[in-house]
Amino acid sequence: MNIASEKDLRQTIVEIGRRMYARGSVAANDGNISVRLDKDRILTTPTGVCKGFMEPENMVTVDLAGKPLSDGRPSTELPLHLFIYRERPDVQAVVHAHPPYATGFATAGIALDKCVLAEVIVTIGTIPLAAYGTPSTEELPNTLKPYIHSCDAFLMANHGVVTVGRDLMDAYFKMERVEHYAQIIFISRALGGERVLPKEQVEKLYELREVYGDTSLNPGCYACSHECINESCVNHDVKYQPQSPDYFGEIVERVLAAVR
Ligand SMILES: [Zn+2]
Repeated sequence: MNIASEKDLRQTIVEIGRRMYARGSVAANDGNISVRLDKDRILTTPTGVCKGFMEPENMVTVDLAGKPLSDGRPSTELPLHLFIYRERPDVQAVVHAHPPYATGFATAGIALDKCVLAEVIVTIGTIPLAAYGTPSTEELPNTLKPYIHSCDAFLMANHGVVTVGRDLMDAYFKMERVEHYAQIIFISRALGGERVLPKEQVEKLYELREVYGDTSLNPGCYACSHECINESCVNHDVKYQPQSPDYFGEIVERVLAAVR
């Protein structure tokens, strides 16, 4: 149950939409925002509306199956939001946008999963890259399946970013933080590449997370020091999955080509 009134939640969505549009995190009608009203109902942005010019009365109420409970048509990306609410009872709000730096990484196929900045490790942790899925279809939520229970922010390949939070502003600030982080990593790569924090320093940050009281999710990964925390690490599967015969065949081909 959300403590804020529905009126306040509608107003907060309007405000977040304005900020996302003003920051260039969305163009034209891109992006969508939603929040839980109670255990059965979600309030979401409508489809086909610029997020920079919304009014509180534009929002659409739906149930957890996506059935409209009010006038208006919900965002076409509603299946993605509903998937997250079903999988994560702790999540109260979802924000989706296309901020240019983070979307650039998503488009280049590069995850933001190294231990580099203390604030990011403490507040978000690993930002994985989910596979590409056709927008507005069930394909898209399926791409988040490997990560949904261990992360709060996701890059979606060739598309954009999704963040989740304990309330609307929490989800929105994670979106801002992901974009800011992507911008910093982009600059550091232009300057020769980021230096990842050593394992001992990352461990100290994990302790800080305990002080802040948020230890539920994967805090990051020892990807930077080539170790995974344990099986709950988002990189664990990727690292330890047996590779397909094709993959090894390709490597052999590449090695042979190099020595020929
Ligand atoms: Zn999108």
